[in-house]
Amino acid sequence: MEVYLDNAASTKVDKNVVAQMQKVMLNQYGNPSSIHAKGEEARELIENTRELIARKLNCSSEEVYFTSGATESNNLAIRGLLANTKNKNIVCSAIEHDSVLTLFKQLEKEGYNVKVIPVDKEGYVKDLNKYVTSKTALVAVMHVNNEIGTIEDIQKISQLCVKNKVLFHCDAVQSFTKVPIDLKKIKVSTMAMSGHKIYGPKGVGALYVSKNVKLNPLFYGGHQENELRPGTENVPGIIGFGEAVKLDSKVDQISKLRDYFIKKLLNINGVELNGPKKRLCNNVNVSFDNVVGETLLFHLNLKNIYVSTGAACSSKEVGVSHVLTAIGLSRKKANSSIRFSLSKDTTKKDIDYVVKEINSIVEILRKAR
Ligand code: PMP
Repeated sequence: MEVYLDNAASTKVDKNVVAQMQKVMLNQYGNPSSIHAKGEEARELIENTRELIARKLNCSSEEVYFTSGATESNNLAIRGLLANTKNKNIVCSAIEHDSVLTLFKQLEKEGYNVKVIPVDKEGYVKDLNKYVTSKTALVAVMHVNNEIGTIEDIQKISQLCVKNKVLFHCDAVQSFTKVPIDLKKIKVSTMAMSGHKIYGPKGVGALYVSKNVKLNPLFYGGHQENELRPGTENVPGIIGFGEAVKLDSKVDQISKLRDYFIKKLLNINGVELNGPKKRLCNNVNVSFDNVVGETLLFHLNLKNIYVSTGAACSSKEVGVSHVLTAIGLSRKKANSSIRFSLSKDTTKKDIDYVVKEINSIVEILRKAR
């Protein structure tokens, strides 16, 4: 048996997505900038997908740009917005993804005045009024955290930003298609999304850019994406991304399975839940007393169970999770934690197998200490 519970890092590509991508690769192979029929076919598919994503976000299709993924979207948004203001006061939450946090560290080196918004025990941003003022140029707060599944109140943050005329960038990678987003109600300047977290392909993403803001590009080249993101479009990737957006995300089914899984895990001695009570449908993050998270991960791997100790992008380095320490966990406790992330294809049988294996591995590891 094989159980993949690392869907926050990347999902298995859906069969329909693969089928559409294959169709596009074999048929609509023209360059979308070419003015002959083969080019126009590809162009039309891209524009249909742009409209589909705009409908999902309740925004206009001219506000949707395709990128190579959320790392690019985050960088393009933040640098692109800052290029149009002289104000150097910028803030982000303590639990942002590395593609935002590392950029902020770099911006600090370049002379920006960076402040980091702390979070409470459940991962919700604290003291917003202290950090978001009329002196602030830009705020970056993610919609949903990738390690503990906290769903931030981005409506409240956006209202504060509108009131103080502050630019607001939101990383919506983990929430997109799982938590409803209505950009007519939530006034963000920019919002980042990614294909491979929603059963779409890797290497494609999108950036929402409000009509009310000005953004500079990171690259210079042709006229694609309104010159904001030049370069020949990743046509199969974009079409695959669109196909993924159409899928049933099965939020209720996954939430029920998540709750069942949490209940079973908490029945094991010395297991504690990390993060909020009300969390993203597919997120489970727990710590195991007297067990090293990585050791447990490797033992699970031997049983064909795939999980994560933290954010995928940094999980190759042995370091403590900045998210778990930000919510107040000790280093030791953070290092004894595992993130499980479910998908629309996860079954009760999968969960029962994982719980059974964890029970026996944890017992062996604790005895060996
Ligand atoms: N932001 C968040 C919250 C993420 O989880 C990820 C993926 N780990 C990214 C950004 C980066 O996305 P991509 O892999 O598309 O660059």
